[in-house]
Amino acid sequence: MYNKNDIIDIEITGLTSEGEGIGRSDGFPFFVKGAIPGDVIRAGITKLKKTYAYARLIELLKPSGDRCEPLCPAFGRCGGCRLMHMKYEAQAKYKEEKIIDTLSRIGGMDREKLEELNEGFISAVSPLRYRNKAQYPFGKDKNGDIVFGFFESRSHRIVPCGDCLLGGVEDGKLLLLLKDWMEENGIEPYDEQSGKGFIRHALIRRSRENGDMMLCLVINGKKLPAADALIERLAGIPSVKSVMISINTKNTNVIMGEECRLIWGEPGIRDSLRLLDGKDFSEISGVKREFFISPLSFYQVNPEQTERLYATAVSYAGLSGNETVWDLYCGIGTISLMMAANAKEVIGVEIVPQAIADAKENARFNGVKNVRFIVGAAEEVVTDESLPRPQVVVVDPPRKGCDRICLDTILKLSPDRIVYVSCDPATLARDLSILRSGGYELKRFRGCDMFAQSHHVETVCLLSNRKPDTKVRIDVDLEDYYRIKDSKKNQN
Ligand code: SAH
Repeated sequence: MYNKNDIIDIEITGLTSEGEGIGRSDGFPFFVKGAIPGDVIRAGITKLKKTYAYARLIELLKPSGDRCEPLCPAFGRCGGCRLMHMKYEAQAKYKEEKIIDTLSRIGGMDREKLEELNEGFISAVSPLRYRNKAQYPFGKDKNGDIVFGFFESRSHRIVPCGDCLLGGVEDGKLLLLLKDWMEENGIEPYDEQSGKGFIRHALIRRSRENGDMMLCLVINGKKLPAADALIERLAGIPSVKSVMISINTKNTNVIMGEECRLIWGEPGIRDSLRLLDGKDFSEISGVKREFFISPLSFYQVNPEQTERLYATAVSYAGLSGNETVWDLYCGIGTISLMMAANAKEVIGVEIVPQAIADAKENARFNGVKNVRFIVGAAEEVVTDESLPRPQVVVVDPPRKGCDRICLDTILKLSPDRIVYVSCDPATLARDLSILRSGGYELKRFRGCDMFAQSHHVETVCLLSNRKPDTKVRIDVDLEDYYRIKDSKKNQN
């Protein structure tokens, strides 16, 4: 038997869904942060459970061939890039395998069949510098100096980081400029403990289309002091086209306040997405959509990969021009507007009213007339019998997946095809079980890397209608799957 603080030597053979190494000693599994498959390590047991344990990496006895030097000095402390110590090809392989493994383990699907249906992983074109958005918290270090960066994993300690390698090259310059301006004008960063201080976060967004940047300062107050001095300094970075403030005077973990005000320039920036063609996305169709992005609107953070993801979703929808398409969980209508080019009508449904307002504006701006956007919970809106029945339903839910009522209603409406865009393979596996037992067959799928260096993965699936399969189990229990996560949470 093992005891806490025991030292063990193990070989890492897998990665958990959270990106931690798994190794076994006498068949007993150990989870080790920072270790990857192929590593032989010395580790100290930090927490023992009945069926598994956590251990801390002490020494790398023999490094895996998939290892690389993490490029960011904040790696390991910042909660962002959990896989930066893995060569990119190995990251992509891990993510592709994670989808197949989860669909077979949780969804009960046959592995060989899944390998047949897999149309190939869509690796990141740019594994670094791909993000168009970052939110940097401001605070003070032990010496009382102003710092900015990212929160440490599962905490609110700031890991100083002046140049996030996933973000834009100009972010660092902008942040330093902000720091200088704060110091010169006696503007304090916000302190979560006391609720005092002023600057909470700097939100930076960037357009891939033209490089335009938006700065939104989240402040603990109603008015920005020394605004003129800030604007004057910002002239040094001509790509900044919009300066806003977000008023957040509450003592809360939520970053953005409810009210945003324009300080200087435009009220947002514009970006565009093209509809790509071809399995390898080498062709560009004539469809291009422009989107207006304000500080509060949801917009995918990796435009390059978003184009690949959407192209896959559109090709899976198999549109001929005669279909009514429902785009559930539509955000600001990006998928709806892509689909509209080849559909009779697209109906987008989204729960956030501001996103629907943006979606309508985006439709108008792009001159797309055959779309309709409805505010509401997908599970409620789909039951409205006055809506035209869909031939194709697209769902793109948040991590928790689709509501059961939503899936049951889709099954009742019996569209020819369902395109499921998922950001969590576990809830995808659960929802596919429900759809399969209700008469849909998984036809094809592809994983897509929207978040290189992180452990997250996106999946696009095509399902088509056939006879119900009574053999599929739908009493899928995610508790087992999440127990690991929960116990980790408790540990910290
Ligand atoms: N398809 C969009 C957005 C996907 S993110 C895109 O590609 O950009 C998931 C969206 O689902 C978010 O905009 C979120 O606000 C929305 N959402 C969450 N729960 C919902 C629900 N019950 N009904 C409808 N929309 C919901």
